[in-house]
Amino acid sequence: MLYRETLGHLVEIQFLMRKEHTLLAASASEINRISALEKHLLSAHDRLVAIEEELKSLKLKEKELIYQSHIEKENKLKEQLNFVSNEKEANALSATLIDQAKKKVDAEHELYSGLEREDLLNTEKKEKIDFLDGIKNSIKEIESEVNSEVARINLELEVINKRKLSLLEQCRKDVLPIYERATKKHPKNPLSAIVGGNCEECRMMLNSVLKSQVENMTHLEPCPYCERILLPHTLNN
Ligand SMILES: [Zn+2]
Repeated sequence: MLYRETLGHLVEIQFLMRKEHTLLAASASEINRISALEKHLLSAHDRLVAIEEELKSLKLKEKELIYQSHIEKENKLKEQLNFVSNEKEANALSATLIDQAKKKVDAEHELYSGLEREDLLNTEKKEKIDFLDGIKNSIKEIESEVNSEVARINLELEVINKRKLSLLEQCRKDVLPIYERATKKHPKNPLSAIVGGNCEECRMMLNSVLKSQVENMTHLEPCPYCERILLPHTLNN
């Protein structure tokens, strides 16, 4: 029974390690609540920047001026038509006028499709700004909740860690290298009971000498296959 106490400590340590994992996952998911919102925030912000850039690139003032200048040119040509002196001149002027009218229609089309796009972008811009405000408020609302939950979890983790260290100190020293190897390989379950002559975790059959050494707690041994520390069947019950 040399190792009875140490094995008891190791069982408690494994229990604490599992608790630790659960707490760390809970802490990560708390933090994730905010980072998920921040992702939305970032993508909405990027979209807003893109909208502003597109609004600038529409160059609506420039298009308005071009359209106005085509109207003026067309009006001037129409006036000139009143002063032509012969048919040849009239035909040439009419052709120029048709050409100019086409340019005006094109400029008008450019301007109006630009105005339509501006409308759509402004609507989307307003929606994105509202969405951003909403997310900022949500973050503010949950931030203190998340922070206090994470702080609570950290305190609990600290307590667990202290308890683990004190249990380890109470273990027989020759166990520590075996324990460290097992923990490194199996951070969640470094222990394994012997069930029906097999290692419960890796299911490999153990030889009878090893089995009775572990069952009698005269030795503390790792499983030769998975390197978990073997627990006697009796301790598990
Ligand atoms: Zn094993």
